[in-house]
Amino acid sequence: MIVVMKPGASKEQIEHVSKLVREMGLKDHPIVGTERTVVAVIGDDRFKDRSALESVAGVDKVVRILASYKMASKEVKKGRTAVPLGGKLGGVVGGKKVAIIAGPCSVENRTQLLETAHAVKEAGAVGLRGGAFKPRTNPYSFQGLAEKGLELLAEARDQTGLAVVTEVMAVEQVALVARYADVLQVGARNMQNFNLLNAVGEQSKPVLLKRGMSATLEEFLLAAEYIMSRGNGNVMLCERGIRTWEDYVRNTLALAAVPELHHLSHLPVVVDPSQGTGKNHLVDAMCRAAVAADADGLIIEVHNDPAHALTDGAQSITHQQFADMMKAIARIAPAVDREV
Ligand code: PEP
Ligand code: MN
Repeated sequence: MIVVMKPGASKEQIEHVSKLVREMGLKDHPIVGTERTVVAVIGDDRFKDRSALESVAGVDKVVRILASYKMASKEVKKGRTAVPLGGKLGGVVGGKKVAIIAGPCSVENRTQLLETAHAVKEAGAVGLRGGAFKPRTNPYSFQGLAEKGLELLAEARDQTGLAVVTEVMAVEQVALVARYADVLQVGARNMQNFNLLNAVGEQSKPVLLKRGMSATLEEFLLAAEYIMSRGNGNVMLCERGIRTWEDYVRNTLALAAVPELHHLSHLPVVVDPSQGTGKNHLVDAMCRAAVAADADGLIIEVHNDPAHALTDGAQSITHQQFADMMKAIARIAPAVDREV
């Protein structure tokens, strides 16, 4: 960080700042300019409390240089992290191949899940999504099949080899969900549930972390940092749209987040065009755009009968639409040096 002194700050005030910096275990390097003096702080100040310096006499502002997150940042690792999904198909998020995770919003029943699992596998998916615990806005809406849903997901994995990606909503569900799933999804509404982030960080299954609907990229990366700081480095960042004033879509899919997250972090980035638009006719174009923007993976809602889906039918695509979309992104991928 750099401590910028006010114009006319006294020699004593500058020396006081230098002393405080040294007391923090860091090195001070005052630079006297014609208008003002700044005190450059040398050393890793990421975990020091900057705000204390901000209120010291003679200080104008404190400018941060290092990112506030560390393990998630490019400062500690330059290349891209590849996260293995598990499952028999060997899917990896963060390699040359764009990993496709697809399936219903919620696990509803055995026929629905198995039909869709086989269909997405045939079309080239490596992961199967499906919520057994659903975060619903309305308490009277379908809440998911809970453990029964997890059993069905495990059965679908046994039949297809697809890696199971499913949401965990609470600390007390982590052990149960981790027993069945290959990847734990932390939903947008829980992105800053710090106890949950710590709990998924303390187990070994990879985590798909959704961006909160009003979270900045810094808050998103700090949420990833929680998980990583507890020992789990297999974190995938998922852009799923943010809430804006725009109402032609359910959420505004912020695709510029994909290259920006790659710029800031080594963690792989997955795009969810389903929550990200809320409309099934927009999903195909957003899948193509996400691949063109260098997404490492896509997570897509697919249903065998969207009109009768218990959750998110309006944004779910059919088996045929999914197969067509896979062909479309296979044409886009080589243009950005990727494969599907
Ligand atoms: C979902 O994937 O169905 C879901 C609820 O996602 P999000 O947390 O991004 O809203
Ligand atoms: Mn959904």
